[in-house]
Amino acid sequence: MQMKKLSLANLPTRIGKLERLSQELGCSIYIKRDDQTGSEWSGNKIRKLEFSVQEALQQGADLLITTGGIQSNHCRATVAVAAHYGMKSAVLLRISEQPPVEGNYFLDLLMGADVKFCTREEYSTSRNEIMAAMAEEYRSRGYHPYIIPEGASNGVGTLGYYNAFHEILDQERELGIRFDTIVLATGSGGTAAGLNLANILGGHGRRIVAMAVCDDVKYFQDHCHRISIEALPYLVEQGEISQSEADRCAAALKPEDFEINDGYVGIGYAQSRPEELDHIKHIARLEGVVLDPVYTGKASYGLWNELREGGSLRGAGNILFIHTGGLYGLFPVSKSFIF
Ligand SMILES: *Cc1c(COP(=O)(O)O)cnc(C)c1O
Repeated sequence: MQMKKLSLANLPTRIGKLERLSQELGCSIYIKRDDQTGSEWSGNKIRKLEFSVQEALQQGADLLITTGGIQSNHCRATVAVAAHYGMKSAVLLRISEQPPVEGNYFLDLLMGADVKFCTREEYSTSRNEIMAAMAEEYRSRGYHPYIIPEGASNGVGTLGYYNAFHEILDQERELGIRFDTIVLATGSGGTAAGLNLANILGGHGRRIVAMAVCDDVKYFQDHCHRISIEALPYLVEQGEISQSEADRCAAALKPEDFEINDGYVGIGYAQSRPEELDHIKHIARLEGVVLDPVYTGKASYGLWNELREGGSLRGAGNILFIHTGGLYGLFPVSKSFIF
């Protein structure tokens, strides 16, 4: 059944085989191009925004407020969607020093976002309070704000990748392939939560491995568990599941149902080790596929390592790697590459 959502992303996104990488590692690796969901709103966030911004419009909002790091793909996609609907946008960006105008931050400014900065400390302790205060201020000026949390990773946003999982099942039927294992990057948890929720509710039995780009296993398991539970009422409202199915799932779902690998965080969020940059270069040359340094580069590096002799993904069957986007975030680190 079709879910009710905005229709913004170019869907379905293509799936293709990574022939030379598969040969190199002696296994079967496919890639789903969620980096090609669009241009201005490219990447995974648009799938979630199709649901969250639908809710914003339903509530009569004329301003989207959201938050992320200075090079946030999510903020850039939100700013693009706001402009598309003639809405205003305001983004709270985490910085450590005065940032150069480049990459996603440049696009935020280009597409007319109001920008407010905060420190790492403020971001981790009080970003939601700061956004609430921003909303209050805009309200006093006559706006109707709608706040989207970090990464649109809440109950309603989780529907984006619940839906994407079903898109993958449809593509399996067309291609005549079963993807036994799905590998992706996880940062704010909504992508991993949505995929896992669809897998569990439908009893599809796939292995979904979320490679953390920050924090640790426990953080992501608790977070994915929480937002999956929050997504259940939305699935009932969409007619995807019944109330009793939602109740049963809420009672049975456990944090340990979400497989997280935190072995590839490296030196921290948006910080690259030389071996990660070398891996991005390797895949670019081997396959003509460009990964980003913050998310997909780390996740693919994790996949590559776990597929080598004795790794945890040896024998994982047909693997589907989801390219979740992030290209604009590569340009600000171009000087870190050695040629
Ligand atoms: C946000 C993001 C992710 C992580 O998705 P979450 O749903 O936040 O976990 C992965 N890749 C890219 C390029 C992203 O921008």
